[in-house]
Amino acid sequence: MSIENCIFCQIVKKKIPAKIVFEDDYNVAFLDIFPVSSGHTIVIPKKHFMHLEDIPIKDLANIIQTVKKVATLIHNKLDIDGYNILQNNFKAAGQVIDHFHFHIIPRRMDDNKFKLYIPREQANDQSLEDMIEILRK
Ligand SMILES: [Zn+2]
Repeated sequence: MSIENCIFCQIVKKKIPAKIVFEDDYNVAFLDIFPVSSGHTIVIPKKHFMHLEDIPIKDLANIIQTVKKVATLIHNKLDIDGYNILQNNFKAAGQVIDHFHFHIIPRRMDDNKFKLYIPREQANDQSLEDMIEILRK
């Protein structure tokens, strides 16, 4: 997907309408049109970056402040019990739009939306050591 036909860039340029929750010079927050729950909001930088690895630290520091501001707003204004912040990178991790973004997903107790029932097994010490060898060399 090029920047020219990036849906999120089109939203930034106001060529595609969106329900804007918050906007400043650097970031835009808007309602997801396929919400997991009511109030599900997407936060994007106005500049096109694809993944976490592409976004400069100063832009990342800037957008995480917007995520905090908008998440706090959502928590204060909606009758919710919590929220998930999701940030997916690459298709294998569920990234659909190749423009760096955060999801803020409002949650209620027992809303049965999704739960992180991720199967996990206790690692043995050698497998952890092997991984440290790979990651630190
Ligand atoms: Zn874009």
